[in-house]
Amino acid sequence: MVQKVAKRFYDSLVAGTILAAQCNDCGNWTFPPVTACRECGSRNIEMKEISGEGTVYFYSTSILPPKKFAEYSPYAYGLIELKEGPAFMTMVEGLDASTPEKIAEGNKRLPLPVKAEVIERAGMNVVCFRISE
Ligand SMILES: [Zn+2]
Repeated sequence: MVQKVAKRFYDSLVAGTILAAQCNDCGNWTFPPVTACRECGSRNIEMKEISGEGTVYFYSTSILPPKKFAEYSPYAYGLIELKEGPAFMTMVEGLDASTPEKIAEGNKRLPLPVKAEVIERAGMNVVCFRISE
C-alpha cells in the first residue's frame, strides 16, 4: 500500500500533476501523500491534485544534501506551507543560498508566495517550489 501511494505520486509527477492525500474523515491534507492521515491517523484517504500554491516562511542552505542532489548544492531549502495546509521542508528555487550573508538577506524578504513545479533532478521527477512574486 505504501508503495502504491508512492508509485501513484511519482507517476503523476511525470505528467506534471502533484498529488496530496486528503483525509475523508477530518479533511486534512498530507503532503507528500502517505497511506494514513497525518492529523488523525485515518486510512480513509483520497489522492487529489493540489493547487501547488503556498508560502515560504524561511530558508537555509542544503548543508548535507542527499548524495544524489549533491551536484546541485548549495540550493535553498525552506519551510513551505501549502494553501491546503501541510507544511514541510523542501527545495526552493529563486532564493539565493550561496553564502550566509545572501541567506540572511533573502530571509528578510520572507514570507513570499511560491508555486510548485515538477522539475528533473538527478534523473528523477521532483517537486520544487519557485518564488512566484
Ligand atoms: Zn484525518
